[in-house]
Amino acid sequence: MDFNDTPEEAAFRAEARKFLEANLAPKSGARAQAESSESDFMKRCKAYQKKKAEAGFAGITWQKEHGGRAMAPIFNVIFGQEEAKFEGLSGPFAIGLGMCIPTMIAFASEDQKKRYVGPALKGDEIWCQLFSEPSAGSDVAGLKTRAVKDGDDWVINGQKVWTSGAHYSDYGILLVRTNPDVEKHKGLTMFFLDMKSPGVEVRPIHQMSGGSNFNEVYFTDVRIPDAQRLGEVGQGWQVALVTLMNERLAVGGSPGPDYSEAMELARRTPAPSGKGTLLQDQAFRAQLADWFVSAEGYKLGRFRTITALSKGQTPGPESSIGKILNANRLQDITNAAIEAEDHFGIISDDAIAPMDAVFQQSYMWAPGLRIAGGTDEILKNIIAERVLGLPQDVRVDKGVAYKDLPTGR
Ligand SMILES: Cc1cc2nc3c(=O)[nH]c(=O)nc-3n(C[C@H](O)[C@H](O)[C@H](O)COP(=O)(O)OP(=O)(O)OC[C@H]3O[C@@H](n4cnc5c(N)ncnc54)[C@H](O)[C@@H]3O)c2cc1C
Repeated sequence: MDFNDTPEEAAFRAEARKFLEANLAPKSGARAQAESSESDFMKRCKAYQKKKAEAGFAGITWQKEHGGRAMAPIFNVIFGQEEAKFEGLSGPFAIGLGMCIPTMIAFASEDQKKRYVGPALKGDEIWCQLFSEPSAGSDVAGLKTRAVKDGDDWVINGQKVWTSGAHYSDYGILLVRTNPDVEKHKGLTMFFLDMKSPGVEVRPIHQMSGGSNFNEVYFTDVRIPDAQRLGEVGQGWQVALVTLMNERLAVGGSPGPDYSEAMELARRTPAPSGKGTLLQDQAFRAQLADWFVSAEGYKLGRFRTITALSKGQTPGPESSIGKILNANRLQDITNAAIEAEDHFGIISDDAIAPMDAVFQQSYMWAPGLRIAGGTDEILKNIIAERVLGLPQDVRVDKGVAYKDLPTGR
């Protein structure tokens, strides 16, 4: 394991920093974002994405023919590390560029790639991922949305849910059931579609954070040309695995306040006993020690992943460990911090709450991080089966046609 940048990596980091300093503001408090409307925020995101693509930082690992730089994944990690120090304007493109477009690159026709990859990279068109349904999240292969062939088109009926960004997306990749008579994984097919197609209805879901980033998406007799099929009919699961593999790599990071912010809060907050600060409080110190061990463990595990990337190797399912650690630690830290802040804990205005309300803002979406990209339990199953080699989870639906399952009727 080598913790230092190679000369080439150091030069790239300096180039990235120069670009970011010229094009992004430093990290702003929660208030700045809340005060700009969603359309203003999207305009700024799109303007930044265009500059990022022109400077060659949008598709760092992508092939040159797709507008990328064909660099090793480690350079993507380096850019991400530097970009995270600034105001975040890349969020709306994360799903499209992290999951949907890599799936298009792997399965779309050459003409389709020419048409769709460039505008997505420059932020002119945004993509969403239409997989989860009310009865198919962890078990996404159990989905119900139906596609029936009609001439050169497929006719889609059904419902998706939790579709991030569907309300501002131009296109989406869509996993549907084309054959209910075979095992659930074998009757799926993947398509891409224009989100403005007749029969597509997007209904935002209001979140406890005050935002509405998720949506329900309803399909009523939506027609999709067969030419927009990705992969073979019945091979949708294999196509989805390509998307999900990219998702796991994209969701692994450690966003939000961590051990060092918790330490800072402890320094500034009076102890419940009235003597000294929370830093002298034994119970809080014990928690700080736990978070430190978890954060350091993650950091060292991450170095292992980065070293593998640096050598051109692909990280394995062990990256699931990082997501479980980070999501749980974020939730624990924000819970404890809000409690420690006493009556300030319930104020999310960054002008009044301690430390720019960083804990309050993250507290609202920390539970979502434990679900998105695989819940804790699903990731533990992956670790048990693929890292530790334990026996597989019980699968009572193995060998049973989808239509004969309780959810398939
Ligand atoms: C922030 C966020 C963004 C998202 N964005 C998108 C998106 O853009 N597109 C999209 O398609 N979806 C999206 N999702 C949906 C996400 O993929 C699902 O929420 C997730 O897969 C879990 O599915 P579910 O909500 O249906 O829960 P369920 O699968 O119903 O799980 C309910 C509970 O049962 C547990 N459980 C389920 N199966 C097992 C098992 N085999 N063993 C043990 N425990 C089990 C789960 O861990 C969980 O605790 C998003 C979710 C979040 C939180």
